[in-house]
Amino acid sequence: MDAIRILGAGPAGSAAAIAALSESAAVRLFEKSTFPHHKVCGEFLSPGASRILEALGVWQDFLGLGPARICRFVLHLGPRAKRWTLPECAFGLSRYQFDRLLFDRAVRLGAEVDREPGAVQRLLRGHGGAPVVIATGRNAVAQRGNRLFGFKAHFEGPANDAVELFFFEDCYVGVSAVENGITNVCGIAPESTLRRFNFQPDELLDRWRPLRERLGPLTRSMRWLTTGPLVFSRSGYDRPQSTVYPAGDALGFVDPFTGTGMFNALLTGRMAGLAATRQAPSQAYVRQCARLLEAPFRMAALFRTALRWGWVGPLAHCIPGSWLFRLTRAAEADPLWP
Ligand SMILES: Cc1cc2nc3c(=O)[nH]c(=O)nc-3n(C[C@H](O)[C@H](O)[C@H](O)COP(=O)(O)OP(=O)(O)OC[C@H]3O[C@@H](n4cnc5c(N)ncnc54)[C@H](O)[C@@H]3O)c2cc1C
Repeated sequence: MDAIRILGAGPAGSAAAIAALSESAAVRLFEKSTFPHHKVCGEFLSPGASRILEALGVWQDFLGLGPARICRFVLHLGPRAKRWTLPECAFGLSRYQFDRLLFDRAVRLGAEVDREPGAVQRLLRGHGGAPVVIATGRNAVAQRGNRLFGFKAHFEGPANDAVELFFFEDCYVGVSAVENGITNVCGIAPESTLRRFNFQPDELLDRWRPLRERLGPLTRSMRWLTTGPLVFSRSGYDRPQSTVYPAGDALGFVDPFTGTGMFNALLTGRMAGLAATRQAPSQAYVRQCARLLEAPFRMAALFRTALRWGWVGPLAHCIPGSWLFRLTRAAEADPLWP
């Protein structure tokens, strides 16, 4: 059988590579960047990720990196806050460590890495029917105008076991711990707002009192990173070619406040690696992914609409927090899938 081509070595691509390699398939992994590197991300890893990391054989190595345990949720909507305990603790680990962990594992298992510029574009044009996993991340194009951008930095100072989400104006910001007592501060804002602050969000965050109080004891320890424009999208692969398996953000980019993007990438990446190895029909694979990921995409869209209409505050204060959390999680695949 031809080597499986995996385009992109983020969480989805590396998970696909590990899954395929552990079924004794040969893997060529195409990646343009080198690891480790920082990435704009809230670095909040949904609790269910532990089961996928275990299936990928990296759970003990993951724990060895000392991820923060995140057991509480605080939702700040305007001046009010809603607090609850998570049904199961989540994790905080920097992308600097997480992406490297998965990539190194794939390489150790025998993935051949190809960094030739243009190779991905060539493979996307034609690959002679060989199985291809597309894991190159977000791909939707934003219209000019009111585009959204993401930003992130790490802070030093007292860390705790809560993830706090602050919604204000047209922005939101998440604050939660990662390894080594570091705190991740990551948010999304309209481009026009960030431009007013020269893409240096300190002053923007300082204007919102609950956030100012939360960040007061902390000191920023790295420069702000930004990314965008961000377009939330569901799968654009309704009818994929028979041997093409899109995974992770390439399959659909969910609004990051759900904190499920990495979980979805691990889940669909692993499934894509297995499906490609077994040459399962890709339409069945995409349909299965759509079923598993339905809840976070539906809830994110509902939440955005409610936010626009000013209903989020009243609604969120009526619904138990643990429901809100559960309703934004993807279902977990049968471990023997496909
Ligand atoms: C602001 C923000 C905050 C977020 N916060 C969270 C959070 O707290 N928790 C969470 O779970 N998710 C979060 N996410 C989502 C999460 O970052 C993504 O869902 C996750 O990175 C998807 O993984 P992936 O492997 O599909 O894509 P990526 O991580 O984007 O990896 C794609 C890889 O493909 C490579 N690549 C791309 N194009 C090419 C090419 N042409 N040739 C070769 N290589 C290529 C890239 O270099 C990259 O390594 C957040 C996202 C944003 C924007």
